[in-house]
Amino acid sequence: MALPKVYNWQLGREMDYRFANGPAKRQFAAVFNTNRCIACQTCTMACKSTWTFSPGQELMWWNNVETKPYGGYPAHWDVNILELQEKANPGGQVWDATKKDPKNAPYGTFAGKTIFETADGLTNMVTGYLPPEEDWKAPNIYEDTATAFSKTGVSLPEHAGWFFYLQRICNHCSYPACLAACPRNAIYKRAEDGIVLIDQSRCRGYRKCVEACPYKKSMYRPSTRTSEKCIACYPRVEGTDPLTKGLPMETRCMTACIGKIRLQGLVSVDANGQWFEDRQNPLYYLVQVAKVALPLYPQFGTQPNVYYIPPRWAPRDYLRQMFGPGVDDAIAAYTNPSRETLGVLQLFRATQKIIFSYKIQPGPKTGEINVAGKVRELFNDTVIGFDSNGNEIVRVTVDEPLIERPAQVTMNTI
Ligand code: SF4
Ligand code: SF4
Ligand code: SF4
Repeated sequence: MALPKVYNWQLGREMDYRFANGPAKRQFAAVFNTNRCIACQTCTMACKSTWTFSPGQELMWWNNVETKPYGGYPAHWDVNILELQEKANPGGQVWDATKKDPKNAPYGTFAGKTIFETADGLTNMVTGYLPPEEDWKAPNIYEDTATAFSKTGVSLPEHAGWFFYLQRICNHCSYPACLAACPRNAIYKRAEDGIVLIDQSRCRGYRKCVEACPYKKSMYRPSTRTSEKCIACYPRVEGTDPLTKGLPMETRCMTACIGKIRLQGLVSVDANGQWFEDRQNPLYYLVQVAKVALPLYPQFGTQPNVYYIPPRWAPRDYLRQMFGPGVDDAIAAYTNPSRETLGVLQLFRATQKIIFSYKIQPGPKTGEINVAGKVRELFNDTVIGFDSNGNEIVRVTVDEPLIERPAQVTMNTI
């Protein structure tokens, strides 16, 4: 049976998928800056204490932060799926970085096969595996474990001994593997925001979604015998949280982030999940203009909607496997950011409300620095963020204001 063809802009080509184009008009999306994460797990606990504190959810961590390269939740999830794909298409899982197009193939073209294309399309819609219960039991194994210590020391731009933190939630994929695999059609993608949800009344706990999701973000709950997953805190995104008085609000894991590494929002998309031009949307700017943030394992083919600014000092081969061929340009754009990029990066965690657009007011020159042999001028620009109605909701400067306490000492009464 021939499957419908859909366009995957992250792969720069058409691909097979169980359903013709998705219904979403707006898409939940986020950018995570791996360079800033301190693995405090505040995000993890914010999600846990909100959504997964009940019986049967003990092994469920809809948000988790793992240490790469050894850590993973469930254990070795990415190595396992990469190996399955390599076995199905030996030596063929490669990119053609020469076939590039700024809009339709910004990272080049993936010449290998997606998880939909290595499946037979009859008995299995998706190549995947069901992790054994053991693999879910240690959500933070290998925490802070680096690769081999180097006696000769380290030198830039890559460290010989390295690790970094990878923050993970459901990607609310444009072509969700969980949805394609469900024999009950219990999984759906909402038109208004692209959030992927499991209808608990339809789910019978066959776990085909758990098997199919390459990111392993659909999880089985034995107490209800159904599968559950990250719901993108949809009441907040809808604006029904009383705190923002009807305005769309970022999720629990985003707003709790101590390291200010996360920015989440909504972008306008067409039927392929391709982003309509929206130059002043901060996510559009970071992903489509500055190209400083990249999808996680785009070669799986689900067109994930969480984007990562890659870590600066980890080996490039490893990062290219994880984030695709855009890694070198993304790291260059982050290491020596343009004035606009530096401005937009200030919006991370500046407000709980979703920022739909921004404006930069030029400020005075404050100095010069030398980064990797390049002299860069610094300016104290002001960045202003606007809500869905175009009203100002946040204003930050590139230089953090210095506030001096008054000389008079006030005793702490706690
Ligand atoms: S709260 Fe932020 S800094 Fe802390 S672990 Fe989560 S993503 Fe990293
Ligand atoms: S990350 Fe997994 S669970 Fe989430 S939408 Fe994509 S395939 Fe489904
Ligand atoms: S978006 Fe909400 S439900 Fe999803 S991982 Fe974050 S806190 Fe949990």
